Amino acid sequence: MKTVNTILFAAKPFFGHLEKLYQQMDAAYAKAAKAAGFVCEGCADNCCKTWFYHHTVIEIACLAKAFEELTPQIQQQAKEKARLALDARADHEPDSGPFFFLCPLNEDGRCLVYEARPMICRLHGTAWKLGLPQGRWQQGPGCGEFEKVWQGREKGVLDRTLIYRDLAILEQALRRESGFDAKVKASIAQLVAADFDVQNPDSRLGQTVRHQKRKHENS
Ligand code: SF4
Repeated sequence: MKTVNTILFAAKPFFGHLEKLYQQMDAAYAKAAKAAGFVCEGCADNCCKTWFYHHTVIEIACLAKAFEELTPQIQQQAKEKARLALDARADHEPDSGPFFFLCPLNEDGRCLVYEARPMICRLHGTAWKLGLPQGRWQQGPGCGEFEKVWQGREKGVLDRTLIYRDLAILEQALRRESGFDAKVKASIAQLVAADFDVQNPDSRLGQTVRHQKRKHENS
């Protein structure tokens, strides 16, 4: 299977660090959810239907590795679901509201790559805050179920500052190592459909990356 090629090779020494960071994310999430009295269980709004974008090649490489470990049959099924998701996305009218489609890596409510699921899958749900330069803070709400129990209290807000910082440090180290410098913004469906190959300029994902790179260079 064609994957992220040289990035995947360059990423291997970083996977242990990413695994530790993922554990820290899970612990921070569990602490915030507990403080807010929030339990993520049996919710009708399955957040695996949200069209999340992923921006770091270290996480994409980790996902590619986990995907390669699935059986060829399951990989094939996920690719078919990814193509359906992309077709539905292409037909979606932006005026009709947000686009929801079950992630192609969700099988019967279970994440096929649970240990390797990316940051946003781990952190989505609780209210959050992010430290910015000059002492400013950015803040965001939790999901609908979280908001019902949390009710705006300070307890239960997940501070994402150190998590983002540490992920950025890993990402920069991998980009230095691999020489890959393009911006990436891809959903799981795009990644699966393109064999996670951000470097292949002929893949749909590669074209998206090239387009983003041109926009970045011209801005
Ligand atoms: S990667 Fe896993 S946790 Fe994330 S949206 Fe897909 S199925 Fe859900």
